[in-house]
This record gives sequence, C-alpha cells and structure tokens, in this order.
Amino acid sequence: MPEPILPGATIGILGGGQLARMLALAAQPMGYHVVVLDPDPQCPAAAVCDRVIVSAFDDNDGLAQLAHAVDVVTLEFENVPSAALDALEALVPVRPGRHVLEIARDRVLEKTFLNSIGVETAPWATIETDADLATDAVAHKFPAVIKTSTLGYDGKGQARVTNIDEAHEAWQQMGRNPCVIESLVDFSMEISVIVARSASGEQRSFAPFENQHRNSILDITLWPARIDPTVAVSAVNTALEISRQINAIGLLTVEMFVTRATETQPSRIVVNEIAPRPHNSGHVTIEASPTSQFAQAIRAVCDLPLGDVTPHSPGAMANLLGDLWPRDARPSAAPPHSLAALQSGATMHLYGKSEARPGRKMGHITALGATHDNALGSVLAARGAIETL
Ligand code: AMP
Repeated sequence: MPEPILPGATIGILGGGQLARMLALAAQPMGYHVVVLDPDPQCPAAAVCDRVIVSAFDDNDGLAQLAHAVDVVTLEFENVPSAALDALEALVPVRPGRHVLEIARDRVLEKTFLNSIGVETAPWATIETDADLATDAVAHKFPAVIKTSTLGYDGKGQARVTNIDEAHEAWQQMGRNPCVIESLVDFSMEISVIVARSASGEQRSFAPFENQHRNSILDITLWPARIDPTVAVSAVNTALEISRQINAIGLLTVEMFVTRATETQPSRIVVNEIAPRPHNSGHVTIEASPTSQFAQAIRAVCDLPLGDVTPHSPGAMANLLGDLWPRDARPSAAPPHSLAALQSGATMHLYGKSEARPGRKMGHITALGATHDNALGSVLAARGAIETL
C-alpha cells in the first residue's frame, strides 16, 4: 500500500494557471506547501504558492528542480511532453501518471480506450490521409464535427461539417494534421462527472454537473444537474468505471452528452472526452460542496481519505471571459462594475491574469440558491451587472 503524503509535505504542480491557483488555495489550508512549475513568473498561481520554478515544461533542469523540491507532482493540464513525465517519474510520484495523460490528450487513443472498455462515444473515424476521407466510415458520419487529435480545447481545432467537401476543406484548414471525425450527437444536455481516486484505490464521485456552452466554451454550470436520477446514476457509474480502468490517481473529469429520449429509446450517456484534472465545471464545488474539487484532488493525490461531496444546496457558476474587460484594462484589474456584481450575494473569483483577451477565462461567479433557478438568477444578475452597466 502507498504511504499517505501527510500535511507538511510539498506538492508540485505542473502548470500555473487558474486550476493550479485554486489547487494551491485548497492545499495550503490543509497544511501543504505548493511549488508550481510554469514558464511565466507572473502566472495565476504565482501569487498563492510557496515558490514558482520558472521553466519550460520540457526543460530537464527545471523538471529536476521541481522533483527535488516536492513529495508528489500533479498537473493542471494534460499536454505535458512524455519525456518530461518520464524524467519526473524517475524521481518522484506523478499523479495522474504518464499512461493516463497520454490517453487523455489524444482523441484517437482516448476514444479507442473508451470503446475498448464498453463506453459509448459518438460514432467516429480517424483522418490521417486523403484516402481516409474517401472511406465509407467517413461517409456515414455526417452531420459531423472534425477535431484535431491533439492540442484542441474550448472548441479550438474543431469544425462542423455536413458533407465530404466541407470535411476536405476543414481538414485542409487544420493543416492536414491527424484528426477525428465524429457524428453530431442529438443531446438534451451536456454534463460532466468528476471522480476522485486515491493511490490506494478509494473512489468518490461528485454528482453530475449540468453544462451550457457558448461558442464551444463553457458558459454556465448548474449543480447538481437537473437530470433523471437513473441517468445520473448511469453517468456516475460510467465515470467511476473509466477512472478505475484507466488507473487514474487524482481527479478524472468525464464530459458527456445525455442523448435526447425518443418514443422508442430512453436517454443514454455518450462520452465526449476525459480530462485527468480539475475541471471548469467543478468550480461551483468551492461554495456548494463540503469538499471542493480542488481539496478532493489534493486528498486523492496525497492518498488521504476522500471528503464528503454532498451538495449544500443547488449552485450555479458563470464564467467571466476576457470579453468583459475593456481593451485598455490594467493588468489583473477586476472587470468594470464588479462591485455592482458583488451586491447580488454572488461570489466572484478572479484568476489574476496579466492580460485580458476575448475568449480567455479570467474568472467566474458562483451563487447558491434554494432552487437551481434562484442560483442561476443570482449569477446571471451578477454577470449582467458587469456586462451592461
Ligand atoms: P470538445 O472540445 O470536444 O469538448 O467540444 C466542445 C463542444 O462542442 C462540446 O462541449 C459540445 O458542445 C460540442 N460538441 C463537440 N462534439 C460534439 C458532438 N459529437 N456532437 C454534438 N456536439 C459536440
């Protein structure tokens, strides 16, 4: 059995963005030290961690410094080069490990793995050559979405296509890089499930999150998702099974579609993708759960007993994108009229990013309510105060 990594120890985080910032903010009150590795000395986590090692993710000196400074390493993103993970794993436990990250960052490996353990995905095919586009497998996927196999996020590296000509054009625009084409799923809701799994195998899942996207970027999350309890159980069981089968240590987020029920077929769970880390949809747990996703991640990575995740009440989260900041905004400044936003009783989190750009996640607003509609009303009112004043 692995030994728990007890408070007083030091946790290393690869990446210093907002997820690392909120991981550090959860780890420190639990008694841990936090060291972050990031190329940017002013990264969002810098202000709230013990030390930043300023280094590229593939720089062996920086990685060795991190390994020698910490007792365990976790990650806030999955695109860390395998050679870097190897270098680290030789010196210190890395949770989740290389195997999980390699699957999660490549859509072909990810869908192949999911299907191999009996998990349903949208029907898909790979596109690596012109010949692939001419196959029957592709011809039967329309209407579809083409996604780059690697390095896509928030809808980047994606195009909707309705026929083979559009598919050709989209693939050209993606630089003829390896892609997947997948059929569009007719869904009634998008949800995510976040599962924690500790080194000794204990697992605990948050109830599903209900997610609404705008321009392929998460916009609103409601928690717990307003879905039929049997669908919720099926979603949670699917996520638990994936986390067990892939041997994830730490958090694993599973993004899913709930298919629209028809007269003959009830709703099903179709998995979109997995992310072995905290997730934007789980930010609401900071206020709405006795143990936030960030505190749970620290417990799982350090092999502590996992915490209670029963919702206090319905909660809602609205993202704040850089579009809300004026173009000449001072670095790290709050969006204008944030005082008005705070009067609504909502909680605002800002990530301290030094530059606001359209589409960039700068912060989020959370509110709890007696009902989902109350909580949603509060976050929309708070964000609306920023948008319209
Ligand atoms: P992804 O980067 O794969 O998470 O996709 C971003 C968003 O695009 C998803 O959250 C969905 O709203 C939408 N999307 C992606 N794939 C599909 C699909 N196969 N069917 C319907 N919508 C999709």
